[in-house]
Amino acid sequence: MAHKDLWLTVLERIKPTIMRAHFLTWFQNTSILSVKDGVCNVGVPTPYASQWLESKYNIKILQAIQENDATVKTVTYEICQRLADQHEGVDVKAICASEDKKVRKVKNVNEVKVSFGPQGHVSSQMLNHKYRLNNFVVGRDNRLPHAASLAVTNMPGGIYNPLYVYGGVGLGKTHLLQAIGNGVLNQYPDKVVKYLTAERFVSEVVEAIGKRHMAKFKDQYRKVDVFLIDDIQFFARKDSSQQEFFHTFNELYDSNKQTVLTSDRAPSDWDGLDERLVSRFGMGMVVELLFPDFETRLAILQQKCQEYRAIIDPEVLMFIANNVHHSVRELEGVLRQSIAETELSDRVPTIKSVAEIIKRMNKAQEIIGYDVEDKRTKTLVKNSLEVMDIVAEFYNLTVDDLVGADRHKEIMVPRQVCMYLIKNELGQLYEKIGGGFGGRNHTTVMHACNKTADRLKKDIKLVRDINAIKREMGL
Ligand code: ADP
Ligand code: MG
Repeated sequence: MAHKDLWLTVLERIKPTIMRAHFLTWFQNTSILSVKDGVCNVGVPTPYASQWLESKYNIKILQAIQENDATVKTVTYEICQRLADQHEGVDVKAICASEDKKVRKVKNVNEVKVSFGPQGHVSSQMLNHKYRLNNFVVGRDNRLPHAASLAVTNMPGGIYNPLYVYGGVGLGKTHLLQAIGNGVLNQYPDKVVKYLTAERFVSEVVEAIGKRHMAKFKDQYRKVDVFLIDDIQFFARKDSSQQEFFHTFNELYDSNKQTVLTSDRAPSDWDGLDERLVSRFGMGMVVELLFPDFETRLAILQQKCQEYRAIIDPEVLMFIANNVHHSVRELEGVLRQSIAETELSDRVPTIKSVAEIIKRMNKAQEIIGYDVEDKRTKTLVKNSLEVMDIVAEFYNLTVDDLVGADRHKEIMVPRQVCMYLIKNELGQLYEKIGGGFGGRNHTTVMHACNKTADRLKKDIKLVRDINAIKREMGL
C-alpha cells in the first residue's frame, strides 16, 4: 500500500475513536514519510503535534498501522517544516467536511435503532444503556472476561475474535455483552451492532423460513460489524437454526467482523454442538465468569447502592455479601428488596430485616452471622421508656436530657432519633409520643420524625447508629 493510502486508512480507523476537535488539530498536515525496517516514520508539522501524537495516540496509531502492515513494530515522529509551510500531508479538515454531509450510516433501521444521548453519546434502543464496562465491578474472578470485553470494545474484529464468555446464571454475561455493544457504539458510531438472544435468533430463522425470506435474513447480517449473541445454549439441538447460526457466524468471521457469544457452559461441555463450531470458538478467546469472591461482592453492593442512591449500613452490606451464594443477580435482588422495603416503611434496612428477606427468597438457606428466631425472643423492647433508655445510653446521655429542653445538636439529634424509633417501631401516635417528651405537641414530634427520615437518606453515620440502636432494641 502506498504511504498516502496507508495513512488515510489509518486516519479513518482512528478518527471515530478520538474527539473530533483533537483529530482536526493534531492530524492536520501529517503524512507517512517512510516505512523501513519495521519503523514507520510519521511527519508532523509542529513540535506540539509530535509530542501530542506520541504521548496520547501512539498505541492507537501503531495498532491501526499494524492492521494494514504487520511488519511495522514502532512509530517515530519527525517534525517536517515542509508540511507546515506548504500544507502538505493529509487535509483532515477536508475529510471531516465531506463526512459531515453524509448521514450517519445506520445501514438498516431494523438492526440498530440509535439515538444520540444528552452528552452526544450514542445509545441504542436495543441495548440497555445501564450495562457499561465502567459499572461492571472487577475482582479476582472476573478480571479476564472484563479485560477481554474491553479489548473487543476498543478494537472490534481484533485478536479476541470470536470472544466466548461462559458462566452460570446471573453472573454478568448479559451485562458484559451489552456493555460491549454500548462501548462500541460510543467509540465507533458508524459501526452496526447487533445484539440478540439465541432464542430470538431461532425465532427469526423460523419466521424467515416460513415467509420464505431467507435471502433477506442472510442479507441483514452481512451489514453487521459487531454481532452479540446471548445464551447460545439455546442452540442445544443440532437443527436448522444451529446450521443457520453456523453460516452466519462463519460469514462474519471470514470478513473479520467481531462476534461475541455467551453461554452457560464451556465449548468443550457442549453436547449436540457442531464440532466445527466448537473448534471455531477455540480460535478466539474463551473466558469463564465465576461467582465473585466476598470483597468483589461487597464492592458490587456498594456500587449498586450508589446507582440506587441508597445509603445502607456497611455492616448490613457485609451481611448480605456473606449470605448470598449463587449469583450477582441474587445479590442485587436482596439489595433491591431491602431498599424497596425501606422506602415503603421509612425504615433503614437492618441485619434482621435483610435476614428475613434472604430467608423468604431462599427458604432452605442457613444464614451466617444472625439467628433470626433467637434474636426475636431475646430483648425485644415493648415500651417507649425502654427505647429512651437505650437511646440515652447509646449517646451517653440521660433520659432527662432526652425529654428536656436543651436544643444543642448533640442532644437534639438523639431526641429526634428517639421519637422516630418510638413512632416507627412501636407505632405510637405523635400526640402520645409528645406527652412522653415533657408534653411537646404533635407537630414537633412529626417534624422530628420527618427530619430523621431525611437525614437517613444522606448521613451514613446516622444509619449506622440507628442500626446499632435497633440491635439493642432486639430488632
Ligand atoms: P447473566 O447474563 O450471566 O445471567 P446478568 O448479566 O444478567 O447475568 O447479570 C445479573 C445482574 O448482575 C445484572 O443486573 C448485572 O448488572 C449484575 N452484575 C453481574 N456481575 C456484575 C459485576 N461484576 N458488577 C456489577 N454488576 C454485575
Ligand atoms: Mg443473561
